[in-house]
Amino acid sequence: EMIAYGMRHGTVVGIGIGAPGLIEDGVVRCSPNLPGWKEVPLQKLLEKALSLPVVLENDANAVAYGEKSSGAGKGFNSLICITLGTGVGGGLILNGRIWRGAFGMAGEVGHMVVEPEGLQCSCGNRGCLETYASATGIVRAAKEAIKKGDAAWDTDNLTTEMLDAAARGGDKAAASLFAGAGRYLGVGIASLLHILNPEAVILGGGVSKAWDLFYPSMTEEINKRCFREIVERSKILPATLGDSAGILGAARLAFEKG
Ligand code: ZN
Repeated sequence: EMIAYGMRHGTVVGIGIGAPGLIEDGVVRCSPNLPGWKEVPLQKLLEKALSLPVVLENDANAVAYGEKSSGAGKGFNSLICITLGTGVGGGLILNGRIWRGAFGMAGEVGHMVVEPEGLQCSCGNRGCLETYASATGIVRAAKEAIKKGDAAWDTDNLTTEMLDAAARGGDKAAASLFAGAGRYLGVGIASLLHILNPEAVILGGGVSKAWDLFYPSMTEEINKRCFREIVERSKILPATLGDSAGILGAARLAFEKG
């Protein structure tokens, strides 16, 4: 990527990091994914150790910034980036800049409630988007379908990739899992579109590879729920940078700081 950014080999002008968890002013306040990390001043520690400017950003924000600068979000000034992985993450770009919220907690679209009395979420709440539209949620729905006798997949090897392949092979039960996730995504995205009126919503993460399996039900919900102007003018797009999005976004932030 150094060449892509017009750098000479061997010249490092700064370091950008996307880290999971609550990031505030260069400090990892806490991180469910990094057990034991509490109030770690990662930016200062690395600047001291490496004598280079360091930018520390929340990983979902770095992904959103990457897609905005070099991916599907290029040319948009305001966008929401949703990552459909083990969980559902989100990053907001408003007026060209990351919106972190008052305490660095903005963009938690995965914990937006889409079903008031819905499934229990790991966050303690019920009916969060993450419980339906994440890989974990889709696999959980698949296990429910097996229990009900609606499907007979091998429970030991259930992954969204396997269900994706089954759906493409004509398995209606598998297809309906993605349609269900798409419906909840549409409900959530409709609210986001109404509140923030971004130019684009970009969907990345492993589950987004099943794009054509959930796109119809997702857009059906959005079309049903949103104001006409919003439906006609907002773009809903798949991410294009894959796993590189966060790296490119963090790097871009480091360049802009330097
Ligand atoms: Zn939740």
